[in-house]
Amino acid sequence: MKTSTVLLAVLVLFAGCKPGKNSETSLATLQWGQADGLPVHQFTLANKQGMVVKISDFGATITQIWVPDKKGLLENVVLGFDSLSGYQGEHPYFGALVGRYGNRIAKGMFTLNDTVYTLAVNNGVNHLHGGLKGFNKHVFSVDTAYAAADSVVLALSYLSADREEGYPGNLKVQVQYVLTENNEIKISYKAETDKPTVLNLTNHSYFNLTSGKEDILGHQLVLLADSITPTDSTLIPTGILAPVSGTPFDFTTPHAIGERISQVPGGYDINYKLRNTTGTFVKAAEVYEPKSGRVLEAFTTEPGVQFYSGNFLDGTLTGFNGVVYKQHFGFCLETQHFPDSPNQPAFPSVVLKPGETYRQLTVYKFSIR
Ligand code: BGC
Repeated sequence: MKTSTVLLAVLVLFAGCKPGKNSETSLATLQWGQADGLPVHQFTLANKQGMVVKISDFGATITQIWVPDKKGLLENVVLGFDSLSGYQGEHPYFGALVGRYGNRIAKGMFTLNDTVYTLAVNNGVNHLHGGLKGFNKHVFSVDTAYAAADSVVLALSYLSADREEGYPGNLKVQVQYVLTENNEIKISYKAETDKPTVLNLTNHSYFNLTSGKEDILGHQLVLLADSITPTDSTLIPTGILAPVSGTPFDFTTPHAIGERISQVPGGYDINYKLRNTTGTFVKAAEVYEPKSGRVLEAFTTEPGVQFYSGNFLDGTLTGFNGVVYKQHFGFCLETQHFPDSPNQPAFPSVVLKPGETYRQLTVYKFSIR
């Protein structure tokens, strides 16, 4: 056969199949180890665009997100570990589903219907991210896992017992992750309780759109939010809403995360009030990383987003691909209700009653510019 014929045959074979793209969506399951005597899995969701998301039923954790850069290079853009043991050890909630309460509850106490509930104090004098064994350390059940024509779906659930970590009510929580053909991860939460309780679920992914080549200080951020809930020295909101205009917290127009960070003692770790009214779905944030060209957009039905610039990462954890996670090596956009809402009557309510269904949706969308 002539060389030109071989070349033509190769071209025909690969026509319409750009590098990195797949002819079908897929979902693969890997046995990843054991926790609490239960088998743990890591699921690999892939769309036709070549985007890959890995999620474990341990803590309903997003462990890896592989997206292309402007040259088509596929890389992982979240912090995490290669193996389950990393997630079982001490770590700052990489990729986890945080519950029952994302962020802090002052002094680990709140009153609901005249009953005082006492929670674990696991962050200085306060309760943080659900307590000593939050949802991030529990094995979830697999409700649904399938690859459809244009999406890949994984639904996980967990039954949190009455008084687990001090919270009232048997709480059935379900999270559904959907990977779409638009390179979105749609995260839908649903929960029901048999006693009045408080609830504030979030995802705690740490993004680094350089894939760990650099810290995140050069990422350009837009936050569609006009005010923050300032905090006291223990990171509990004081109760007021402060306008961001004229301060280093103003990201209503694009700014590099590092541009004004030296003016923010400790770095960014603050809740922004979004522009929606209760439950409406809005864009919360957009992040652009100039070298890779990667863009991340976040949308949500939640009233707030915690922007955290990875201040407490200190180089003691080595993660995926041997990258040492130093300060500011990842940032979080934790869509949420406001911290300490159970003790702050002026904040949107986080109370869930029997007969009601808790529903929230957050979408992380990736693209290139
Ligand atoms: C909090 C930080 C905390 C981090 C890891 C964030 O949601 O706002 O203060 O250090 O989570 O736990």
